[in-house]
This record gives sequence, C-alpha cells and structure tokens, in this order.
Amino acid sequence: MSCLMNTYARQPVTFARGEGVWLWDENGDKYLDAVAGVAVNALGHAHPALAQALCDQSRSLIHTSNLYRIAKQEQLAEKLCELSGMDKVFVCNSGAEANEAAIKLARLYGHGKGVETPTIIVMEKSFHGRTMATLTATGNRKVQAGFEPLVSGFVRVPYDDVDAIVQIAEHNQNIVAILVEPVQGEGGVHIPETGYLKKMRALCDARGWLLMLDEVQTGVGRTGSWFAFQQAGIMPDVMTLAKALGGGVPIGACLAKGAASELFKPGNHGSTFGGNPLACAAALATLETIERDGLCQNASEIGDFIRTGLADKLAGVAGVLKLRNAGLMVGIELDRPCADLVKRGLEQGVLINVTADSVVRLLPPLIMNREEATQLINLLSQLIKEFLAA
Ligand SMILES: *Cc1c(COP(=O)(O)O)cnc(C)c1O
Repeated sequence: MSCLMNTYARQPVTFARGEGVWLWDENGDKYLDAVAGVAVNALGHAHPALAQALCDQSRSLIHTSNLYRIAKQEQLAEKLCELSGMDKVFVCNSGAEANEAAIKLARLYGHGKGVETPTIIVMEKSFHGRTMATLTATGNRKVQAGFEPLVSGFVRVPYDDVDAIVQIAEHNQNIVAILVEPVQGEGGVHIPETGYLKKMRALCDARGWLLMLDEVQTGVGRTGSWFAFQQAGIMPDVMTLAKALGGGVPIGACLAKGAASELFKPGNHGSTFGGNPLACAAALATLETIERDGLCQNASEIGDFIRTGLADKLAGVAGVLKLRNAGLMVGIELDRPCADLVKRGLEQGVLINVTADSVVRLLPPLIMNREEATQLINLLSQLIKEFLAA
C-alpha cells in the first residue's frame, strides 16, 4: 500500500481540504470534524488568522537556531506565562518531548535534594507519549509491550485516588514528583472528583514534591479555561502543552514555576527545532485568536450543549452507560467495544474517535458553533442508536 511504516490502522480516506469544522475528501465528500486532528486544530481548518501568520512569518524567517535569541519564542513564552501564571517556558515540538522535559526536571530536582534514584508517581490509564520515558510513564500495557526494558524511576497508582498516593509516600523515600493529566484523554475521558488536584497540591507541598500536570490534551482552551488546572484553583510546579498550541503546526512546551523553573542550565536540555520562528508565530496566532474570539468560553458552552443534547437524544437507550464532558472533551461510554463506530461515522460524514475500547470521544475544534454542534448531536445520536440496536 505504501512505503510508510505500519504504525497506524488508518481509515480509508484522504482529506484534500478543510474549512472551519469541515473537511472534504479527494472525491469532494464532506465531513463534520469532531476529532480536530486529535485535539490539535483548535481553530478548525484553514483559519485565516493562522494562515496569515504562517505566510507572513515564512516570508521573513522560518528557522534560525536556539544558538541565537528568537523574538517570537520570547514573545510566546511571555504570553504563555501571562495566561498561566507560570514563570518559565521550554519550547519543543510535541507532547512527548514536553513530558520528557518535565521528567528530566523532576530528576534534576530530586538529585538537587540528594535523592539518588528520584521516582515519579504516575497513574493507571494515563497517556504521556511514545518515547521511552513517556511510554514508561503511560499506564497502558499496549503502549509498552515489546519495548522493554522500560525506564526506571516510576511508580503507578490508580487515577483519582489520593489515598493510594499517601500510602506510597509512607514507604517510598525516593518520590520527587507526581505526573498526572487533569482529565484523562486517551484513557477514556476520565474526569476526576472535584478536589483531586487540590489534594495532590497539598500533598506535594507537604512532602516537597513537584506537581506536574500533563495538559497536552486539556490545555489551550479545550476544557473551557486556558488550562484545566485553573478550574481547580491550584497552581502546578510544571505543566506540559502541545496538541492545540500551534493550531496544527507542531509545537510543545514545558512550563515551570518557582524552583522547578530554575533547574535547567545551558547544556542540560535542548532541541534543534524547538521554538523556531515559524512554530512560535503559529502558536502566537492561535493564542491571540482564542483570546480575541472568546474560544475558551465557547468550548465550555458548546461542550455542555453537546453533552446535554446527546443525553436528551440518548435518554433510555440501553447500552449507553455515561456521558461526560470537560468543555469540548466529550466522552460517551458504551457497554461494549465500539471501534466500529468510527467507520460508520465516516460513512455518514462525521469524524469521531473511540478510545479505551468503549468510549466515543469528541474533540471538536474550539470554534464549533451551536448549529454545527446540533448537526453533530443529530448525526452521532442516530449513529449510536443504530450501532447499539444492531
Ligand atoms: C497526545 C498526548 C501526548 C503525546 O503527545 P505527542 O505530541 O503525540 O507526543 C501526551 N500526553 C497527553 C495527555 C496526550 O493527550
């Protein structure tokens, strides 16, 4: 079929162009996009502000090097700190890289405190990426199998279970950090109990651990605020971003606050491409557009609108277990594996994702309006009803 390594079981469709929440394939057939490149295309497709920024930037500079100062990277870091309250930013190219930076920070932090084998608490059902350290941190055997030996220095606890962390703290003196997603995305759109992050913040303060939030999926407006932690009323020590940050252009970031923000010294970490002018121009345009158009608020409203609309249409339908959302991260948990729904959706002109075997996950662009959301609700509820009845 192709010269590509066989890393993805791809759907048999090739998209030729897009506009807003819509995509068109090579035959001219139209699709409503409720995947958004897996939470990447925050501004939808072919957004004029992003296209203009990329065009302008590419006409002056695409890449220089981190051997020199990069104005757009400095501007982006300042903007991210202003929006988040964090102190310092390392710019990279992906979520896995951002988490690698966080893991390295935790280890430096530990060594600085005299901990010889610094250990990070990670969660069951978590997802942090595909590099060796991040797949080790990931709580999914399918992601790890075949790649042993894994990286040392991680211990795992159930998600949304602070007591399990307290117990580990009793007998493990090597813990230096907790790495956790504020809402688990790949794991099945799991939203923890209110207070989960606050309790972990208190525990980290009491023990001198870093609270490191993987906001690669939840960040940049997705859950209805710039960052999910802002709804929990806490500040993390470290936060990672990627996915939506560049509106589709590859970019990631590791943000740190306080002591954690001063750990890296020249030579400790780096990236050839990280934070180049083109990627930073894309990220700045994405953030400015989200801000100007009130897209965090929109994500919150449209996300709730989609969940309540689906709940209405699917009321009493046997096989639908749970509907949940954090802004425009929407999960519909069914009582059976439902990967087949992706193909059925494609045939009906709607792009959806299934994760954790039995959870339909919606991650539409943050620009989705009520009319488009209504179409999504109608298409998807019909699709789910037919699937469950078959
Ligand atoms: C997607 C994702 C990653 C990995 O990001 P890549 O850019 O694919 O490396 C890490 N953490 C979370 C929470 C994600 O959703």
